[in-house]
Amino acid sequence: MSPPASFPASTAPSSADLQAVIGLEVHLHLNTRTKIFSAASTDYFGQEPNTFTDPLTLGLPGTLPTLNARAVDLAIMFGLALGCDVSGFTQFHRKNYFYPDAPKNYQLSQYDRPIARNGAVTVDGERIGITRAHLEDDAGKLVHPLYAPYSLLDLNRAGMPLIEMVTEPELRTPEQARKFLTLIRATAQSLGVSEANPEEGQMRCDVNVSVHVPGTPFGTKVEIKNLNSFRSVQRALEYEIARQTRIVKAGGSISQDTMGWDEGGQKTFVMRTKEGEADYRYFPDPDLPPLDITPEWIERVRAQMPELPAQKRERYLAAGLREQDADSVSVDVPQSRFLDAALSADPKLDLQKLANWLLTDVAGWLSAKELNLKASALTPEHLAALVGLVEAGTLSGKMAKELLPEVMQGADPATLVAERGLSVVTDAGAIEAAVDAAMLANPAAVEQVRAGNLKAANALFGPVMKAMNGQAGPDVVRRVLNERLGV
Ligand code: ADP
Ligand code: MG
Repeated sequence: MSPPASFPASTAPSSADLQAVIGLEVHLHLNTRTKIFSAASTDYFGQEPNTFTDPLTLGLPGTLPTLNARAVDLAIMFGLALGCDVSGFTQFHRKNYFYPDAPKNYQLSQYDRPIARNGAVTVDGERIGITRAHLEDDAGKLVHPLYAPYSLLDLNRAGMPLIEMVTEPELRTPEQARKFLTLIRATAQSLGVSEANPEEGQMRCDVNVSVHVPGTPFGTKVEIKNLNSFRSVQRALEYEIARQTRIVKAGGSISQDTMGWDEGGQKTFVMRTKEGEADYRYFPDPDLPPLDITPEWIERVRAQMPELPAQKRERYLAAGLREQDADSVSVDVPQSRFLDAALSADPKLDLQKLANWLLTDVAGWLSAKELNLKASALTPEHLAALVGLVEAGTLSGKMAKELLPEVMQGADPATLVAERGLSVVTDAGAIEAAVDAAMLANPAAVEQVRAGNLKAANALFGPVMKAMNGQAGPDVVRRVLNERLGV
């Protein structure tokens, strides 16, 4: 059914009635050692252009593709993780087009027999359908030097194994689209399917968006190509939804265009009107036989599947982590790996306390230095040791925070404590003197505690800690206070 192209101005819906409809197409570089159809290495990031090629990558006549079995394993695993049906029978088609970055003049892709289809993931409690996920090869890259009257070609990326996944038009807001992508990245990284780093071009996204009045047919969609950060996806969607809303409200119609995102100007621009599927002249590749994926193959891959973000979230909740923290850590693979490693370094530690340090103090220090966990010298063992020293009462929270910058730079907390004779005063004598002084200075609080208002003891606790310069173990102070107050 074709959607209404325009509304008469008099009955144009107000923006409050309009809702956005979003579908995403995500490309991920698979984490294989060699390319999808040849033995050329995939490790080209940051290397000289055109040094990671071979005759097949260059599209030379007479070369024949050999399918990388590891790429198939990873695609099966990813399909299973997205709740898809994984095909027993799959096939590669040639998608024909001419572009200088594709020397074969066709892309090897999967057309009517994708490796996976009919899946779904859950984002914020909403089910988002996954239409399909298929394997294909990546193109090279045209480089346009500034002001030069020519373009350069780098074929290192040509032949990289890609998985393309397509969602149903079931996302409704830019925020939800960003959360979906965060979940997909975490899923791919947890499985080792892809590094999924948008900055290295390992994860790219095309967005499709339209607006309509709920309950009526969908509006005409616009596609925005090649967004390479989650922030760009969100901004481009916000911009495009506002643009379409303005047009529809004014009674205009949306033309079905393919657009680009201008990062500098923060706006979309028209690249081309969309080509039809027939233009690609898809046909089965005669050099690659159909692929029969046996049930045993699928089960072997399923048995190797590690924990997925949703399972991780459940595990964290069961271990007492706050829901908000479980939500964020479970989709941040470097962070959750670090947290898990710290906990296994000292399984007696309280997960929430460790997470508080990681998400607040450590994350704060890293973001101030524009670093990430991977690039920092902090080890999970050192974080566990620091938190352990606080828990044991050897360090006060204050002292631990003062040591953090050095620990972030690789120092072992236990060594720092030993070398500097740090460690909180647990000498009851000094603490008793401070407690007595605090009680003398605040007899009213003492009265109240003795009259049964135990909370009033807090008014004495602060001054004692202050008198001890923050170097007294809070547990010891509490114990001495209670003893002296006779409660
Ligand atoms: P095309 O024929 O342009 O390839 P598809 O139906 O295959 O379109 O869908 C491509 C993508 O666009 C999918 O992610 C799908 O969810 C999304 N999509 C389809 N229709 C709409 C729509 N009306 N509004 C927004 N997104 C849509
Ligand atoms: Mg399509």
